Amino acid sequence: MGRTLPSNRWKKARKTVSRLQRKVSNQRQDWQHKVTSDIASRYDIGVTEELRVRNMTRKAKKGSKRKKQKAGLNKSILDVGMSALNKMIGYKIEAKGGLLLVLDTKKVKPSQRCPNCGKVHKHWAQLSNRYHVCDACGFEIERDKGSALVMYQVAINQQPGDGIALVNVDAVSSTSKKRSRKDTGSVKQLHF
Ligand SMILES: [Zn+2]
Repeated sequence: MGRTLPSNRWKKARKTVSRLQRKVSNQRQDWQHKVTSDIASRYDIGVTEELRVRNMTRKAKKGSKRKKQKAGLNKSILDVGMSALNKMIGYKIEAKGGLLLVLDTKKVKPSQRCPNCGKVHKHWAQLSNRYHVCDACGFEIERDKGSALVMYQVAINQQPGDGIALVNVDAVSSTSKKRSRKDTGSVKQLHF
């Protein structure tokens, strides 16, 4: 009697696992819909960044100090499903006639730029740097709030100092079906 067939106990365990996986996936989707509907109902214009999830989730270099940190970040990005969130916010805001601006963060550098004077601080990019103090103007702000502020200012074309304006950052609207870098037409037509 060869035991090549999966045992009943194993089959049962496998069934339980797949049921749990389905449950987690459903819960995540419920949460995504709730969050994005809430945002889309409150705002007519959304500003987000073009996520390079593949880069963000790429394995950190071997022996790198950031390896552990990066592994944690990868996990949380994948868990939350950021690109799905962005897509949902986009179609929900557009469904009510609003607009989602997608900024090129490589140019805007929201996590490195001072929202008060526009100076770019390279070392702010480090994830461990949670609180930003600008050595040029003395402005202080939490990292995430500062990033949001920079993106908001770019979107309304009021970036201070030597900051960068919307027309210069190749912003694309999610309404343009083509996600071409050169396609800034729909955005340039907006007069803020
Ligand atoms: Zn500053």
